[in-house]
Amino acid sequence: MPTYHYQAASELSCQHCEGGFDVFQKLSEDKLSACPECQAPVKKIIQAPLIAGKMTRDSNHTLSEKNIEKQGFTQYRKIGQGKYEKTAGKGPNFIDKDQL
Ligand SMILES: [Zn+2]
Repeated sequence: MPTYHYQAASELSCQHCEGGFDVFQKLSEDKLSACPECQAPVKKIIQAPLIAGKMTRDSNHTLSEKNIEKQGFTQYRKIGQGKYEKTAGKGPNFIDKDQL
């Protein structure tokens, strides 16, 4: 079942919704519009899926790793806060934002 993330949409919030909460819902279920605890309005937070190849310019194209190398791109995957590990290409093996 997909998990949806909701967060309080206004100043009205309780501990449950002010920092956001996850709900398991079937696709057929309507999305929540109010917090189940305090009935304050909530909004659905879209969680961007981790897209491989995000570091390439055009994320609409899903390039295979070989193509990425051919095109001279370097592909990274995120391994932590500001840290990326190379999965394809010729760039540095790791990127650490803290060290830039
Ligand atoms: Zn609430």
